[in-house]
Order: sequence, then C-alpha cells, then structure tokens
Amino acid sequence: MGRPLRVAIVGSGPSGFYAAEALLKQSTPPVSVDMFDRLPTPYGLVRGGVAPDHQKIKSVIAVYEKIASAPAFRFFGNVLMGKDVSAEDLRGLYDQVVYAVGNESDRRLGVPGEDLKGSHSATSFVGWYNAHPDFREESFDLSVESAAVIGVGNVAMDVARILAEDPERLKPTDIAEEALEALRHSRVRTIYLLGRRGPAQAAFSPAEIQEIGALESADLVVDPREAALDEASKKDYQDPKNKKNVDYLQERAKAGEGAKPRKIRLRFRASPVEIVGRDGRVEAVKIERNRLVLDKDGRVKSEGTGIYESLPAGLVLRSVGYRGIPIPGAPFDEKSGHIPNAAGRVLQAAGATAVRSGEYVVGWAKRGPTGLIGTNRADSIETVKMMAEDAAAGRFCPASSPDPDAVTALLQKRGVRHVSFADWKRLDALEIARGRERGKVRLKFADVSRMLSALS
Ligand code: NAP
Repeated sequence: MGRPLRVAIVGSGPSGFYAAEALLKQSTPPVSVDMFDRLPTPYGLVRGGVAPDHQKIKSVIAVYEKIASAPAFRFFGNVLMGKDVSAEDLRGLYDQVVYAVGNESDRRLGVPGEDLKGSHSATSFVGWYNAHPDFREESFDLSVESAAVIGVGNVAMDVARILAEDPERLKPTDIAEEALEALRHSRVRTIYLLGRRGPAQAAFSPAEIQEIGALESADLVVDPREAALDEASKKDYQDPKNKKNVDYLQERAKAGEGAKPRKIRLRFRASPVEIVGRDGRVEAVKIERNRLVLDKDGRVKSEGTGIYESLPAGLVLRSVGYRGIPIPGAPFDEKSGHIPNAAGRVLQAAGATAVRSGEYVVGWAKRGPTGLIGTNRADSIETVKMMAEDAAAGRFCPASSPDPDAVTALLQKRGVRHVSFADWKRLDALEIARGRERGKVRLKFADVSRMLSALS
C-alpha cells in the first residue's frame, strides 16, 4: 500500500485501548490509529464507572497513557459519531474501523413501578458519583431510611458500598463533590441487596462481597437459611469462585445483626415483582420468594413460590446489567444488545453470515457486559487478529481519503472542537491540581462546556 494501514477506533475505554495496543504492535503493514470519543476525556468506564474508592483499579490508566504516547496514535475527544462524523465518513477516511462503544444503557427489570420517582438505574447512580457529564443533572433522594439494590453483581456491590460507606473515607477520592455532599447528609440506614437466585449463583466477586463485609460503617447481614446450599446449587458450588462466596456468606450469617450504624441486608431467592409507590414515589419493593430448580440445560434458575413479601425502600437502584445502544450507521442486534459479529468481524445484520468489510467490534459492544477490565485485552487481541488477517488478504476497502490531515480538516469544516491527547493531559493536570487544593486525588470536571472553556 506504501503507507500505514489507517484504523479508526470509536470509543476510548479499555477495549478500545487494548485494540490500539495490539494494532500498534503490528509492523507488516505498520498501523496508525485515530481514537474517537464523544467525551473530551478518555478511558470510558475506568473513569466513569470504576468506583471512587477503587483508585487502585484506575491505575491501569498508566498502561493506556503509554499506548497513547505512541507516535502513530492520535486521540479525537469530543467527537460524537452520528453527529460530528458518520460511519460513512470513517469508512472514507480509514481502511478499517473498530467499534469500541461499550454498553451505554441498562437492562430493564420489566416490573410495574420501575419508572416511579426514586427508582433509578444503578448506572445513573454510578455516573452521578463519578461526575460523568451525562448524569450531572441527576439527583437521588438520600433522605430516606431504607434503600433497595436489585441484582447482586459487582455494580450492585459498588453502589451498595458507596451508599453505606462513611463519606469521610470517600472525601480524598475523585468522587463528585455533589455526590459527596449528598452522601454526607444521607439518612439511609438499611440497604437491601436482592439476588433472585442463591449464594452459589451470585455474580459478585469474592473480593467485592468481602469488601462489603469489611466496612466499618455497616454490618453485612445474611439470613443463615438463605445462605444455606440447596440441592440444585450443588454443582455451582464446585466452581471455586462460587464456593468462596458461599463459604464466606455462611460464615457471615453466623455473625447475626452486628452493632454498626448501617445494615446491608443481603437477600437471596428474592425476585422483585413490583416497585410499589404512593403519590408517584417509591415506597417499597414487593418481592416473590423463589425456589431454585435446574432448567433443561442443567443451569440453576429461579422459580416463584407464590409467597410475597414487601420491603420498605424509598430509593431503588436497579442493578441488573448494562445494555448496548445502537450507533448510527452500524448494525445492532436488538435482542442481545450487541453489534452482531463473528469473532469481532461485524456482520451485515443479526443472524447474517456475511461480514461488513473493514468493520470490527471489541469489548462489551462485541460480547455483552461481562468480565473485568483485563478480560477486554484478550477479546481485543482476537479482533485485531481478524483485522490483520483481512488486511493481509486485502479484504477491506482502502480509505478514499487516507491523508491523516483529512479528518482534522473535516472536523474543522464542521466546526467541531476536538480534544487531542495533549489537551486531555492539560485537563488531567487541571483536575489533579483542583483536587490537591481540596485534599482529593482529583476534582473532575463534570461539564463538557467547562472542560472546553478550561482548555481555551
Ligand atoms: P452482572 O454481573 O451481570 O450482574 C447482574 C445481576 O443482576 C445478577 O445478579 C443477575 O442475576 C441480576 N439480574 C438480572 N436480571 C434480573 C432480574 N430481572 N431480576 C433480578 N435480578 C436480575 O452485571 P453488573 O453488576 O452490571 O456488572 C457488569 C460487569 O462489570 C460484570 O462483569 C462485573 O464483574 C463487572 N464489574 C466489575 C467490578 C469490579 O471488579 N470491581 C465493578 C463493577 C462491574 P442472575 O445471575 O440471576 O441473572
């Protein structure tokens, strides 16, 4: 080709960075990478999802900074695909395009009362305490005594922990100031954590539930009957992760109520069937007690017993998983919430076998919202392998405008003020300096217009 292969990556979270890393390692042909993000800031869920008291997890950013320092890498923040650039623009400017757009929405529970005031998705609570620009206008009523978190994955652990934690321990972190202030005035004393199956099927990691159990500000309360292993769960218990969880919870169950100011009441075999309100506001969660049975594939599923219970809750956080949203110009599988693909090669449509030449997908947009940050590395490497095979075999449409300046010219012509990686590093330094003044690791900008004015 006589020039580097030009690749666009849409999205700058972990999967996008791991794809960039694998691409930039290639030498035949060499690759140049332009990474786009709709926000002026990079790192996706590492910045906007990882809880503020998990700063160690965020240290993975050092790896991404190293990738971004490669001469063949450029960052274009504040560029929204579908508005500022179209999929068609990218196909003209690049030889290959990778969608690393993650899952920007959340799954619905599908029960009455889900949209009552006081019922929120956990993702909006996470975005709010992490100063994500999309959620800066959100507010959560923490003047209530009792809250319910639905789902027992790691996101549920994060939101329950933030609700229960002593705010003074969160102060030095990069938590949003508004969230910290609201948590300081919180009157929430009881947090129900609701799992529809049993302890051997809980999605949380042992480290996450044990962190909840170690909180100084709250007791983790588990009913010994619900922590007990039932017949259907014997196989799941063989899995080392599940075994650790069950063993730990059975130990905890022996500890009883405890004397700490807050209680996190972990309930199992409890499916929410209704979010109950009065005058449009959440007041309680009606749960149905479940029994566990094996389905035809031997997987443990829950089955209602017809016995109901009502748990008081003035705040409900639905934490039942993320879901992808369609991006303009790319195919989308409504059923799964992913971009349909075969090992990362984008397919023409869900259920099709024909691929879209030169288009690829990585991360949650490829496989759904599972795994930890590091899981994305192997996943992105798999996609990049397909990209290299296709490039070597000439299975792509070479860019019609491969000049690296063409994209900057296009953005300029459209009046899009893009944010480079050097700009981001200036913002980064400003956030750290603002934080230092207040004894915090960083004070984030939560407002895109303030980010842009700080840069100008
Ligand atoms: P998740 O791990 O898939 O957990 C979702 C939870 O919601 C499960 O307990 C699931 O129960 C439950 N659920 C689903 N539909 C339900 C319904 N209709 N009624 C009641 N419960 C329902 O999702 P997540 O917590 O959003 O996490 C997403 C990914 O990010 C995970 O891979 C997670 O490990 C990762 N993450 C990691 C960390 C960390 O390492 N610190 C932090 C946050 C997120 P069933 O199992 O019965 O379906």
